[in-house]
Amino acid sequence: MKVFINKVIPEIGFKLLDEAGIAYTVWKEKPILDRGQAIQFCKGHDAFLSVGQAGLDADFFRECKHLKVVALHSVGFDGIDIKAATENGVPVGNTPNVLNKATAETALLLMLTVARKALYLHNKIKQGEWGASQQPTQDLGIDLAGKTLGIVGLGRIGTELAKIVTQSWGMKILYHNRTTNAEAEKELGAKKVSMDELLAGSDVVSVHTALTSETKGMFGMEQFKKMKPSAIFINTARGGVHKEDELIEALQQQIIWGAGLDVTNPEPMSKDNPLLEMENAVVFPHIGSATKETRDKMSTCAVENIIAGLKGDPLPYPVNPEVRQGK
Ligand code: NAP
Repeated sequence: MKVFINKVIPEIGFKLLDEAGIAYTVWKEKPILDRGQAIQFCKGHDAFLSVGQAGLDADFFRECKHLKVVALHSVGFDGIDIKAATENGVPVGNTPNVLNKATAETALLLMLTVARKALYLHNKIKQGEWGASQQPTQDLGIDLAGKTLGIVGLGRIGTELAKIVTQSWGMKILYHNRTTNAEAEKELGAKKVSMDELLAGSDVVSVHTALTSETKGMFGMEQFKKMKPSAIFINTARGGVHKEDELIEALQQQIIWGAGLDVTNPEPMSKDNPLLEMENAVVFPHIGSATKETRDKMSTCAVENIIAGLKGDPLPYPVNPEVRQGK
């Protein structure tokens, strides 16, 4: 039994594979593999541990239907043809829950950094300008305490963010999901509203949905125009959920006050993107889960999925549990 791993994962993952007596091949070179190379490697292996591999489409799963498991090193599985995986009998696993706190903290960091223009003022110091303290009316940010956070996608990560801001800052929560999150309503006083009500009533709008055909391009000029001119837009979900050109326009025209992105469209973002020069915009290079502790846990979950899949057992963290195990 042999696993192909397309990037170098945290050491704990290799240790668990060694302890389980599972051999592996790791692709350590840059640039990352294209789909054709990934298929060739997978053909010589029984399982695939994929860190953000592009091109896991219907062709990939047709070519690699021998795989006993594909273990993703992420919770998101957009861009992976799960229907094709299921039709070809390939179990796919992901890493839910272990990255909730780190990703929620990233959204929080973006909210604070944008609200206080922190990065912009930091960069001013580098240009020899001390900024905010020169005049009492200069470079002012906005308070978040006591304000309303609108969460689009109040699932695992959204709920973690809601817990932090209700408990620490007394923020009120509006949310928009397809189904009701009864626990968050009871525990956090979250109120389910229509998308339009959320946009009109929130001081910060934070997106936490998966990227799907329904959520793709969900945020464009039409939605920004329905937000308060003083509102901040935060996206730590996937860049495809917002239309980046329209977000830039909304900020340039002061239709909304600010924006914080951990995910961009496309990734990586061009160094010439106007968002990088704006006073009230902050961009991170997709660091939601990028802490030592969280990446260790993700690596552990991914290897647990590999071990179970190779044994023909149900995956502990399945994306398509309907696939019959034990082929
Ligand atoms: P989750 O628990 O499944 O939560 C997703 C939420 O979105 C659910 O509450 C779901 O509720 C809602 N939703 C789905 N489709 C919707 C729609 N069309 N309209 C409104 N709400 C919708 O997922 P999670 O674990 O919190 O992760 C969320 C996403 O975050 C992942 O898919 C991934 O893309 C992203 N992520 C990013 C990073 C990063 O590094 N920046 C790290 C981890 C995750 P309903 O089903 O009731 O609609």
